[in-house]
Amino acid sequence: EMSPRIAVVTGANKGIGYEIARGLSLTPGIHVILTARKAALGQDAADRLKQEGGQVSFHQLDITDAQSIQTLRSHIESQYGGLDILVNNAGFAFKMAATEPFSLQAKETLKINYFGTLAISNALLPLIRANGRIVNVASQAGLISSLKSQALRDRFMADDLTEKQLSGLMKQFIDDAQSGQHQSRGWPSTTYGVSKIGVAMLTRITARDIGRLNSNPGVLVNCYCPGWCKTDMAGWDRAPRTAAQGADTGIYLATLPPGSSDLNGHFFYDRAQRSW
Ligand code: NDP
Repeated sequence: EMSPRIAVVTGANKGIGYEIARGLSLTPGIHVILTARKAALGQDAADRLKQEGGQVSFHQLDITDAQSIQTLRSHIESQYGGLDILVNNAGFAFKMAATEPFSLQAKETLKINYFGTLAISNALLPLIRANGRIVNVASQAGLISSLKSQALRDRFMADDLTEKQLSGLMKQFIDDAQSGQHQSRGWPSTTYGVSKIGVAMLTRITARDIGRLNSNPGVLVNCYCPGWCKTDMAGWDRAPRTAAQGADTGIYLATLPPGSSDLNGHFFYDRAQRSW
């Protein structure tokens, strides 16, 4: 019998991540490592999926914690020898009513959504096997067009933008927020949006450089926006979609069949390619 493809989903104890883990774990031939930063919540979520017949196990992961990342990486290496699917879903947003200063919100949001995603992605990239799939959950709230300065848009969209330069731009936003200059420097007034611009551009860079970052053939790296979904993050009253609907394109991108080589380094919405 063929050994299953191994999938990691981050932030999968609830919301869209849980639904992605659910869909993948119920797909024949895939074993999901459901990860969450709070072990009790993650274990409970994995147990629920097992009861439904899902192929799933739990492992702790806080994407802002280097030790936690290394422990997961070692676990995957020793238990499975490699990884086939990585879904970077874990994310955070301050509530509209949050009273923390903008500069603090900038630092905290980017720490999780951009720098956390970067850290787990870089740690697990070397383990990705042939025809592996990396899916980053970005957002339509983080489009390049939301940047008010053409110079800034050009820097993000430069064909030769490096990961270091992208991280530099993210740090620049934090500094500009700190000094109260973010608006005059062309940034939008949404820390969440900027963090997701970072995730989207990271997707583009990783996809472009995948041959150098991972020697296995056929690895595809894409991101998508799930749409406005009923979750703890986005609220339960006004959002039109269920978390399961938001998970659909993520599951689709995570299970793109071998040979889908034109579908690399793109931004998707409802299974269709969109511009950044
Ligand atoms: P939820 O708040 O329901 O879930 C977020 C998940 O991320 C939780 O499991 C949370 O864990 C986890 N998480 C947060 N910080 C970390 C961390 N440092 N390490 C590991 N896990 C972490 O939100 P959604 O399901 O709505 O969001 C999922 C993704 O979809 C996010 O990336 C979000 O930005 C994106 N998105 C959501 C939209 C929506 O309308 N819902 C729209 C567009 C994008 P914990 O339970 O411990 O807090």
